[in-house]
Amino acid sequence: MPVKGMPVRRPQTPGLLSTTYLPSIFKGMWITLRHIFRPKVTMQYPEEKWTLPDNYRGLPVLVKDDDGRTKCVACFLCEYVCPPKAITIQAREITTGVEKGPRTFDINMLRCIMCGYCEEVCPEQAIFLSKTYNLVGVSREQMIFDKEKLLEMGGVRHDPIRKWGRLLDPVGAARAAAPASEAGR
Ligand code: SF4
Ligand code: SF4
Repeated sequence: MPVKGMPVRRPQTPGLLSTTYLPSIFKGMWITLRHIFRPKVTMQYPEEKWTLPDNYRGLPVLVKDDDGRTKCVACFLCEYVCPPKAITIQAREITTGVEKGPRTFDINMLRCIMCGYCEEVCPEQAIFLSKTYNLVGVSREQMIFDKEKLLEMGGVRHDPIRKWGRLLDPVGAARAAAPASEAGR
């Protein structure tokens, strides 16, 4: 029994003009010409930068107080709460007797998910999520930011929390007034 089906429509043989491709070329040029005069949507990065919202969460950084002292007291809270375990801290005692501070403070930016838990938990407001989003490097080692780099990125943060101003005894207050270099930055 013969199988019945739909008749197949063969494409028509192209005309002489179509074989020159000129209609297709002019059609494409017309589309290009129309888009030349339309508003541009492509951002010329890195010359042009995004305007980020106030609550944008970029790379975490460390900050200093108004006197140029590292605000971190190496309490390890941020290291403890960090979900991907991106933070590694080594503490050291500070000779002024105020508190301790970080000897080393590394953040593995390849692990960091910019969740903001470290900023939330920090009792000294020493770590903040910056607006920096361009994370580039050519090796894994370059993606581990040490204390100096984090402090350089964070800069000085003006706020009322200053661990050096909390001393109750006058001897300690005098020590706190010592230059930052003596206070173990
Ligand atoms: S932002 Fe989140 S993932 Fe990144 S260092 Fe802080 S706690 Fe860890
Ligand atoms: S950055 Fe804040 S939470 Fe982390 S160790 Fe320093 S003081 Fe503690």
